[in-house]
Amino acid sequence: MIDLKNLTIKKAHGHLTKGDFSALELAEAYLKNIEAKNKELNAYLEVFNDVREQAKEADKRIKAGKAEVLTGIPLAIKDNILIQGRRVGAASKILDGYVAPYDATAIKKLKDKGAVFLGRTNCDEFAMGGSTENSAYGVTKNPHDTSRVTGGSSGGSAAAVAADLALAALGSDTGGSVRQPASFCGVVGFKSTYGAVSRNGLIAMGSSLDCVGPIAKTTEDAEIIFDCICGKDALDSTSIELSTINLQRSIKELKIGVPRNFIETEGIDAEVLKDFNESLLRLKKAGAKIVDVDLPSLQYALACYYIIMPAEASTNLARFDGVKYGPRISGTNGINDYFKTRALFGPEVRRRILLGTYVLSAGYYDAYYGKALAARSRIRMDFENVFNKVGIIAVPTSPTPAWKIGEKTDPLSMYLADIFTVTANIAGIPAISVPSGKTKAGLPLGLQLMAPVGGDEKLFNVCKSIF
Ligand code: GLN
Repeated sequence: MIDLKNLTIKKAHGHLTKGDFSALELAEAYLKNIEAKNKELNAYLEVFNDVREQAKEADKRIKAGKAEVLTGIPLAIKDNILIQGRRVGAASKILDGYVAPYDATAIKKLKDKGAVFLGRTNCDEFAMGGSTENSAYGVTKNPHDTSRVTGGSSGGSAAAVAADLALAALGSDTGGSVRQPASFCGVVGFKSTYGAVSRNGLIAMGSSLDCVGPIAKTTEDAEIIFDCICGKDALDSTSIELSTINLQRSIKELKIGVPRNFIETEGIDAEVLKDFNESLLRLKKAGAKIVDVDLPSLQYALACYYIIMPAEASTNLARFDGVKYGPRISGTNGINDYFKTRALFGPEVRRRILLGTYVLSAGYYDAYYGKALAARSRIRMDFENVFNKVGIIAVPTSPTPAWKIGEKTDPLSMYLADIFTVTANIAGIPAISVPSGKTKAGLPLGLQLMAPVGGDEKLFNVCKSIF
């Protein structure tokens, strides 16, 4: 029996190369768990039917002495990242039955290393949401308490890793969709500097915010995946080669900034605040200096995000017209087909298309979209100023632990839950969520650390030294 609970990518690699178990045996252990638990959790929308063949290929590489750290490692992939020849649908009916014609760049890089793809995971439709309740294929349940949400939008990926249905996973993060579900499920989620991972082959939501990122059990595992998928890519003109800055090798001498005024607002759960303060204490004990910082424009971050994101999403989703992708519902004429097909979008996606179209319309562009862009520049400047004084900024990942399925009925209350995560996407900076503790009822909580552009590795180093 393979001890999946305590397995990490690094340990699995050791066992695979020593011959303690084969990639096939490892994949089969995960398939068995999926068989036992996925019906209830709904983490996977599809388990691939060639997992054993993929694992056998990996075993050939391992036998030939050509194993790299990701060879034979079973991964789960969010349903908005393309794998050639396989179905992909962003958990939307409008892409039902659509088959990806090419590999996302991140997928290609993982394939080159011999990783094994177990299946595609559930998410909010087109990654729009924070609970996976917006999926057209049912909610994903939190493995720590199945009456609660996993967070989202990469909820299926986070649940799969937390319940040992995959060793690690890929998600996407536009406003927190990797970090927040990771915190709700007690695992690690990482969003890189904008552009560090190619967006080629990621179904677009908000293109100036979207990042593909890893969800894993440890910081080290998240780093292994990030190191594999990062890099400049000719197929994404916004991608960059990360020039690493100021590698903080240890936590000693590190100054950590805490925007107290922003954190201690009325919406924050008392247990979250307590856990956050305990995390700061741990960082302090490890040698870091904790200082208060002021980021005055953060109060505009959520409003800014909920204008820029729908604006970009509304244009990105214009392509789903029944002609180029997915099903086409036939009506009486071309325009009627279009309306009928577009009605396959779920309510949250429609809401964002409407909002985005509104803020971009001639009469309101300056009042909303233009203002949001100005606010975005201010937020970026505020971060730059603060990063002149501190190396890292700490905030909780989410103001509350995982809520009950069905509890948040109005969209606004769901948007408010993104308060601590959207800022990193607006500023384009790297951020990581690491498990920091649990509530009395046993629900996981996450600590989020942010670094300046290029500080990705610094975040890994700091987290590895204490969490
Ligand atoms: N919860 C946020 C939203 O609903 C973030 C989504 C994401 O990062 N994809 O937009």
